[in-house]
Order: sequence, then structure tokens, then C-alpha cells
Amino acid sequence: MYNTNNIFAKILRKEIPCDKIYEDKFSLAFKDINPQAKIHVLVIPKGSYIDMNDFAANATTEEIEGLIRALGKVANILGVSTSGYRYLGNNGKDGGQEVPHLHFHIFGGEKLGKMIHK
Ligand code: AMP
Repeated sequence: MYNTNNIFAKILRKEIPCDKIYEDKFSLAFKDINPQAKIHVLVIPKGSYIDMNDFAANATTEEIEGLIRALGKVANILGVSTSGYRYLGNNGKDGGQEVPHLHFHIFGGEKLGKMIHK
């Protein structure tokens, strides 16, 4: 069950602020509060989806398209489309997901390290 009190739900309801990069009908992108690279932005769907399992099973085609297109737009806005970047989604317990609202991380602005740290 989706927890409407998670921090990203509060950001979407504008109950707490965010450093917004991009917004459209289906998505919101904002800077991560604890950046792990020179550029670290989160892209989230506006719909209430816990994780990729939930999104893949229950989102509409428009919502899925909107989120994927937003990822590309945000990379362009951040100026990393050519230099390269990493997008990453932590999913569930083993994936290390802390906030139970689906989000993609976008990292860039520098050469990134190994793909997986344990
Ligand atoms: P995850 O481990 O994938 O769930 O990552 C959650 C991310 O949300 C972490 O990188 C946090 O730094 C980030 N985060 C938590 N609260 C906020 C906030 N209020 N604004 C921006 N980013 C946040």
C-alpha cells in the first residue's frame, strides 16, 4: 500500500520545497538533497507508485511514456546528454530503496565510478 506521507508525496503536494529542475503533467525532477555526484537529480512520476513493480504493473501507457521522456528531457536540461550520465533506480529492500515513491536517480557532471558498490 502506497504511503501518502512519504517525503516525495509531500514534495508533490508542495508541503515541502524542492530544488526543481523540470516538471510536466506526469513527472517532476529535482536535485537530490544529499548529492552523490556533481550532478544528482531525482526524476519521479506524479502518480502514486511505490516502486518499479507497482509502476510497471499499474501505470498507464501515458504515465510510462511521460516518465521515460522526462528522463531524456532532464538529461538535456542538465547538459549531460553528450558527456554521459547514469540513471539508477533502487527498488525494494535489497535494492536499498529508502523513499517508497518510485524515483530514478540521474548522476553526472563527472566520470562515475563502478556500477555497483556493496
Ligand atoms: P533511495 O535510496 O533510492 O530511496 O534514495 C532516496 C533519495 O532521496 C536519497 O538520495 C536522498 O538523498 C533523497 N532525498 C531524501 N529526501 C529528499 C528531499 N527532501 N529532497 C531531495 N532529495 C531527497
